[in-house]
Amino acid sequence: MSTGELNASDFASWIRRAAELVTADADRLTRLDAAIGDGDHGHNMDRGLRAAVDSLGDGSPGKVLMAAGRAIVSKTGGASGPLYGTALRRAGKALGDADEVDAAALGTALRAALDGVRELGRAAEGDKTMVDALAPAVAAYEAALADGADLAGCVRAAAGAAERGAEATVPMQARKGRASYLGPRSTGHLDPGAASTALVLRALADVAAQGG
Ligand code: ADP
Ligand code: MG
Repeated sequence: MSTGELNASDFASWIRRAAELVTADADRLTRLDAAIGDGDHGHNMDRGLRAAVDSLGDGSPGKVLMAAGRAIVSKTGGASGPLYGTALRRAGKALGDADEVDAAALGTALRAALDGVRELGRAAEGDKTMVDALAPAVAAYEAALADGADLAGCVRAAAGAAERGAEATVPMQARKGRASYLGPRSTGHLDPGAASTALVLRALADVAAQGG
């Protein structure tokens, strides 16, 4: 039965599940990046998340996320490494020293992750980046929380919104990152970073559904 809270071992499971989903989809992420970037996104994410899995050790949920974020920054090439690393470190910092994370605390951490990505990358919604998956995911999480959903329900809402947000990048013209060099030719393709963000949030939904 769900306790409605996640502990450090659940956060470690999230990182492992994210690594699994990204490894399974690395070729697709690389193909998406080959269309509008330089074709390394699958490789970057795979390498970064493997390093994050290697970083997993003892400590609170916040420590788990901060260590994973540091590992991703140090091992992931490309624009996405610092962005994902910042997201995880900010989320970890928001969790503080708590041993159990409830739905409200997780919402605060996801909001902090989005703020960190926005500050570092300066992308707005509609610029065809990972923000187009993460921003609607955080909004959907907060809306579900306000409606009284439990933690698993909130994360499920976030993961669904991230997937729809990623799909919605197809007609957008990129205004940030490498894809922006293509100008109007960046339209008609799904943004790879938005696609990987949807996978990372799907991983969290999988872990939350198992009863964190
Ligand atoms: P690179 O573009 O350096 O090769 P990756 O291929 O790993 O790095 O990542 C590309 C993804 O990074 C893009 O699809 C986009 O989602 C994301 N991205 C790039 N620049 C920004 C930015 N300024 N803000 C948010 N996300 C960004
Ligand atoms: Mg790339």
